[in-house]
Amino acid sequence: MRYEELAPRIKRVYAQVRYLDDYHWELRDDRILGVHKKSNVNVVIDVADNKEHAEKLASNDVDGIHIIAVPDKSVFYVHNGAFILTYRYIKATLADINDHVVWSGFKVVERDGKLVQEDFYEYLGGALINHIKSNMLAGRDYILWQFYKCEECGKYVDIDALERHLKDHGIKHHEKSEERYEVFEINFRDGKVYDSVGDEVPKSQFSEEGLEFLNEVFSGSS
Ligand SMILES: [Zn+2]
Repeated sequence: MRYEELAPRIKRVYAQVRYLDDYHWELRDDRILGVHKKSNVNVVIDVADNKEHAEKLASNDVDGIHIIAVPDKSVFYVHNGAFILTYRYIKATLADINDHVVWSGFKVVERDGKLVQEDFYEYLGGALINHIKSNMLAGRDYILWQFYKCEECGKYVDIDALERHLKDHGIKHHEKSEERYEVFEINFRDGKVYDSVGDEVPKSQFSEEGLEFLNEVFSGSS
């Protein structure tokens, strides 16, 4: 298949997304397939005739994040887990998705006689929908941050204080070949911290360093 043979509307939607190099793009007949390069999260973009058609397409299960573009103006809603939106909103939505894919740890593995670092990422889809619905901006209304649940005391430590915290337990940070973090939302609107499913993480679950970090961030001095 040649590029010229694609339906004009596919080309029109593709023209909106092709500048986003966080994704690898593929055009397959009537679909635009994206792979988020760092995390391998899939994005499937369908192009519908109108909203009714889009909602019908939304009932199809896809492997990944489903975006359905419609030619109508000023459309943006979530239906059956799919984003149904105006062509012009696609770029911003894909940028938002990128912001909600957060590095959450690493593991050093042996492969072909070499030691290779594998990275883990978490896609916070629930938080993304919530942020869009409540018109929340990263940096202004919230930040996403990695916390480590200490294996000794069970408290959450912010990523930057981990080395210091483990040292107090007599654990050598540099001896670890694997670290997994939980990604929390620090919400400036209500001064609370939420986990990836939206449950509040009480302050009592944070280590001394973790609390110090939260205080700094909430007071805006970080
Ligand atoms: Zn600890």
